[in-house]
Amino acid sequence: MRPFDYLRASGLDDAASKAGETAQFIAGGTNLLDLMKLQVMTPETVIDINTIDGLDRIEAHEGGLKIGTLVRNADLAADPQVRRAYPVLSRALLAGASGQIRNKATTGGNLLQRTRCPYFYDPAMACNKRDPGAGCAAKGGISRMLAILGTSAACSAAHPSDMAVAMRALDAQVEIRGTDGATRTVAMDELYQLPGETPEIETCLKPGEIITAVILPAPQANATQSYRKIRDRASYAFALVSVAAVVEMEGDTIKQASLAFGGIGPRPWADAQVNAMLKGETPSEALFGKAADTLLAEAVTDQGNDFKREMTRRALIAVMREATGMAPASTGTDKVEALA
Ligand SMILES: Cc1cc2nc3c(=O)[nH]c(=O)nc-3n(C[C@H](O)[C@H](O)[C@H](O)COP(=O)(O)OP(=O)(O)OC[C@H]3O[C@@H](n4cnc5c(N)ncnc54)[C@H](O)[C@@H]3O)c2cc1C
Ligand code: SF4
Repeated sequence: MRPFDYLRASGLDDAASKAGETAQFIAGGTNLLDLMKLQVMTPETVIDINTIDGLDRIEAHEGGLKIGTLVRNADLAADPQVRRAYPVLSRALLAGASGQIRNKATTGGNLLQRTRCPYFYDPAMACNKRDPGAGCAAKGGISRMLAILGTSAACSAAHPSDMAVAMRALDAQVEIRGTDGATRTVAMDELYQLPGETPEIETCLKPGEIITAVILPAPQANATQSYRKIRDRASYAFALVSVAAVVEMEGDTIKQASLAFGGIGPRPWADAQVNAMLKGETPSEALFGKAADTLLAEAVTDQGNDFKREMTRRALIAVMREATGMAPASTGTDKVEALA
């Protein structure tokens, strides 16, 4: 690890003034420190934000919840309000990493964790994300964990967060504080940028900007929420494919469906067209198959990750069958209760 300055922020203004152009904030450190040890990230200054008061709370907010950026993943998953009204989030969090890591990992850090593309973690390999213009060693290489939608010639890396997939299905908003003290709120899709020709730019955050909270809208009482993650091991592994679903039924008709997918895109992947084609329809295997066709229409795969097409299709169909009552619900599916 290269030498760096370690500073503690006494508040948000202090964090902003210390941040400058090149500093990195540190929250749980479970991703940043690994990357620094490997010299994939080499910040000259690391600013500890754990010392800032008030960012570790879960509070009521306009019928929903506001989750402070320093709320630990373990605490968020166990929070009674989250378990009752946003079980998809609780389940996604518990499907990620290990108990020890979840105890340290934070909401903001989880959203901003870097891809798990193996070539990104090896400074001896060419990687446009780590070293813009260097090329992409993953092309023609091991692509099992790579994305199949939203990729570009420059980069095919997938976003690794489970939590972000659930938050995408829940239509969460991210609160960002600028260096001038002004706060803006962006949707998840706005937070994450597609790689295009600049895969090194992953989010809409400008230097020194800090995520302060995630805002969840009021839950749809009686909706069904589900998270299914398919991975190489039963635990401690990133998603090959994951599906988060929030589905509201009106009798035998789908009143509303919000689906998001992990492991297949450079950001938690959602497709408005897929959600729209499910709305107002009677559940059927054929309908869900058509939704999968639409979702995967633009998929680009190679030999190493072509299996993700069929895996995504099957996961979508299975989750929707459960959520709409066509099949008995598994342990990954819950009925939503209202917030207290
Ligand atoms: C072995 C292992 C297995 C894992 N498995 C999974 C898994 O299955 N699923 C999954 O989703 N995750 C998994 N993870 C990833 C883990 O969840 C992340 O490392 C963690 O969530 C990052 O949170 P953190 O608080 O430690 O972030 P840090 O490491 O502190 O920070 C990560 C990045 O976010 C930035 N940052 C942090 N907070 C803010 C903020 N408020 N505003 C602006 N920038 C900020 C930092 O500067 C840094 O660039 C795994 C990690 C490990 C080590
Ligand atoms: S896929 Fe992206 S992250 Fe992986 S080596 Fe290529 S440029 Fe780097």
